[in-house]
Amino acid sequence: MTAHMNQPTGHILIVGAGVIGVCCAYELASRGYQVTILERDAVGQGCSFGNAGLISLGHLPIPRPGVIGQTLKWMADGDSPLYIEPRLDLDLARWLWKFRAACTHDQLERSMDVMCGLSRLSEAGFRHFAQTEHLDFNFRPLGYYEVYLTEKALDRACRSADVTRAHGYAYERLDAQTIQDREPALSGDSVGAIWYPDSFFCDPYLFVREVGKLVRRMGVVVRENVEVQSFIEDGDAIRGVRTTLGESIEADHVVLAAGIWSQALAKKLRLRMPLQAAKGYHRDIPETDPPLSTSCLLGEANMVATPMSGHLRLAGTLEFSGVNLDMRRNRLNMLTEGARRYLPSINGAPPTSEWVGMRPCLPDGLPIIGWAPHHQNLFIATGHAMLGLTFGPATGRLVAESIAQEETSIAIDEMRADRF
Ligand SMILES: Cc1cc2nc3c(=O)[nH]c(=O)nc-3n(C[C@H](O)[C@H](O)[C@H](O)COP(=O)(O)OP(=O)(O)OC[C@H]3O[C@@H](n4cnc5c(N)ncnc54)[C@H](O)[C@@H]3O)c2cc1C
Repeated sequence: MTAHMNQPTGHILIVGAGVIGVCCAYELASRGYQVTILERDAVGQGCSFGNAGLISLGHLPIPRPGVIGQTLKWMADGDSPLYIEPRLDLDLARWLWKFRAACTHDQLERSMDVMCGLSRLSEAGFRHFAQTEHLDFNFRPLGYYEVYLTEKALDRACRSADVTRAHGYAYERLDAQTIQDREPALSGDSVGAIWYPDSFFCDPYLFVREVGKLVRRMGVVVRENVEVQSFIEDGDAIRGVRTTLGESIEADHVVLAAGIWSQALAKKLRLRMPLQAAKGYHRDIPETDPPLSTSCLLGEANMVATPMSGHLRLAGTLEFSGVNLDMRRNRLNMLTEGARRYLPSINGAPPTSEWVGMRPCLPDGLPIIGWAPHHQNLFIATGHAMLGLTFGPATGRLVAESIAQEETSIAIDEMRADRF
């Protein structure tokens, strides 16, 4: 086995069939590699299943100047979008410390350079899937609004939008009348909005499912209900993986794309990744009357309302309560209550879906897209936090370029695995 060599005939194992795993499979298969995806559950059933569907290009990372003050205010307010379960957890304490250190102007500028590079790659990637591969995933290149009920919050959001604009993604500030005319479903209480015309939205599960079907047609073996238990090590290389079914599967390269669960797998290789699960929820409800024409971030409530395949998806909240899928009803209810302030026509009809997912979050707000530090043929692609759907196509491209030893479309050094 020769690692890091351009060998399109090699066998690549991808662990995890979320948005990241399937996008990696697509790019690798396009280059002629033999690819197998191993998925513990079914394609797209992890965090990629029920997110808000926003392809938010040029979005700021969570760690940024000023966010600590906001975080402390939210922590003191039981009804805020942020919840940190009180518990003794040294890893979380270390994570918060590193997060605090990343809230600087310098780090924000570095992160924005990387994230806007990822955005541009993904922008082309989503258009390619929709227009060239003709995948049907409710792709809507219509931009999105950030809607505010107070001038203070709108002014603050404009300062963030200025950072986005300085990195090449335009925005427009709309007054109350204009946003009301464009989205009559919104309450007359909004003082205005920000319009990000370059972004998109889609149905995130449809996207993963359709890319999953496409890669199967391209010859990728997608094995569901197969859980990777450990790695077969051979000096500083990985020879393959062992599954809970007792199988050993050999590979020339392994891509770890198991979302929040990547951490537990990496630990088996003595590799520490400071990933924390930031839980979020969705509640799908019947469409408002009139329906929203495009996705809206409801500013003060810090949640998103996205019109999606015949219903309205309310999604948001940020909960640090460990790696588990326990649902807190009060957090779910907060979505409806928060949205009602902006969308008064939401009625009491029963939700059609309720869901919880875990965003894989690293403390500096950037993902890991890079080679493992001590295993020459293990590539890591995780930690995409709030932007995993957005950065899926870009990540797939960078992973495939790295494995094929092509020049990467953007520099990936800031996202290396050993930066912590
Ligand atoms: C409420 C909410 C709203 C969000 N909104 C947006 C949004 O609008 N836009 C956006 O860009 N992002 C959004 N996100 C973030 C986005 O959903 C995630 O960043 C993204 O889904 C992460 O994708 P992934 O492929 O890394 O992980 P996952 O989708 O979790 O996939 C990992 C897969 O690995 C599998 N796996 C785990 N362990 C093993 C194992 N041992 N063996 C085999 N398989 C394994 C899992 O079963 C899973 O299918 C949101 C998230 C939440 C929670």
